[in-house]
Amino acid sequence: MSAYAPMLAALIALLAGLAVGKAWERYKLRDGTWIDRRRTRESPHYILGLNFLVANQIDLAIDELGKAAGLDANALEVHMILGNLYREKGQVGKAITVHQQLLQRPNLSRLEHAHVLLCLGLDYKRGGFVDRALEAFNEVLRLDPKNEYALVNLEKLQEEQHQWSEAYDTRQRLSKLADADEGPQNQAILAFLENEIGLEAMRRTDYSEAVRHFQSAINLDPRAIPAYLNLGDVRVAQNNDKEADAIWQQLVDVAPDRAYLAFDRLEALAVRTGSPERFTRLCKRLIDENAQDWRARLALSRHLAASGRPRDALDLLFAALVQNPHALGIHQAIWRALGQLRHEPELVDRYSELTRHAIFYLDPHICVRCRYRSTELLWQCPHCHDWNTFVEERIAPAQDTTEVEV
Ligand SMILES: [Zn+2]
Repeated sequence: MSAYAPMLAALIALLAGLAVGKAWERYKLRDGTWIDRRRTRESPHYILGLNFLVANQIDLAIDELGKAAGLDANALEVHMILGNLYREKGQVGKAITVHQQLLQRPNLSRLEHAHVLLCLGLDYKRGGFVDRALEAFNEVLRLDPKNEYALVNLEKLQEEQHQWSEAYDTRQRLSKLADADEGPQNQAILAFLENEIGLEAMRRTDYSEAVRHFQSAINLDPRAIPAYLNLGDVRVAQNNDKEADAIWQQLVDVAPDRAYLAFDRLEALAVRTGSPERFTRLCKRLIDENAQDWRARLALSRHLAASGRPRDALDLLFAALVQNPHALGIHQAIWRALGQLRHEPELVDRYSELTRHAIFYLDPHICVRCRYRSTELLWQCPHCHDWNTFVEERIAPAQDTTEVEV
């Protein structure tokens, strides 16, 4: 992904440039000096520069486009792209200077103004000047309210600043511009943002406000898993175990593949309310419904081991190990059970047979967008900042280790 980022950005800049070019052509015609512009376009430097751009040879593209820009100081789009290329090269100061100079030009149309400001906002964002970037993107949107690129960048900045309500409003504006098939994705992101707003209310112990936001997240997206977890936590904080149990059970029904995220909570609740068998029944049900559910097996085995049944626990754990040979938690539980059984040689042999080809990881997860790795499930990627992109990583057995299955 990262290798393509500069090229992608350059292409987007180019497209933005072409859009501006259209508006600008009209302006130039009004001015009666469009021949200058054609000279730029037809110069070999311009064409070569674009070719280098497409081939991702940024330095050469800068050289050629720089020469093309030299032929015509008025060629707005060429200067704009040059500035963007400086930014991609990490020369943020230079990019800012180029784009600021373009903004000084008299007679910029509204659209041209918006496009140059957008470039400048991206420069500020890249340079870490958050306030100035926010200001620039907001100004772009004032000039061009449907600028999706400005909205996306604005939302990411707001998220970084933990301005969740503002980010929510921005995403809503984006979802109004989106095609129908992007609807579910937008709803899911809105739900994550509602969940963050709810968490803030929870931290100020404003429970009714927190409940409202978590509930709204679930209404937006029935698979808004963290909202179920948090809503139950608020109910526990309100001494309402019954409601907590109900919402976590609802999570299990809606998303059995994520039910394990509520295991600790459901188990503690079952024990606290004097009916631990409720939790073991749940685990058994999940295993019956999905033979692949190694997490339910692991949870159930922990229960059996604790109640003096290490042999039964071990059977479950061996079955779980076949499903996911790389989960460290299973191995640790196996060794505890083996210890309880005084390392019975036949059982130890079976374990070593099952693990012959395993490689160890702590519960590995990977971002499908940028391949960032994490040892737990994350809802927003700390690297690419996208929402809900993590999947459990399964690693192929040792004999074909080069391929990583996702
Ligand atoms: Zn990522």
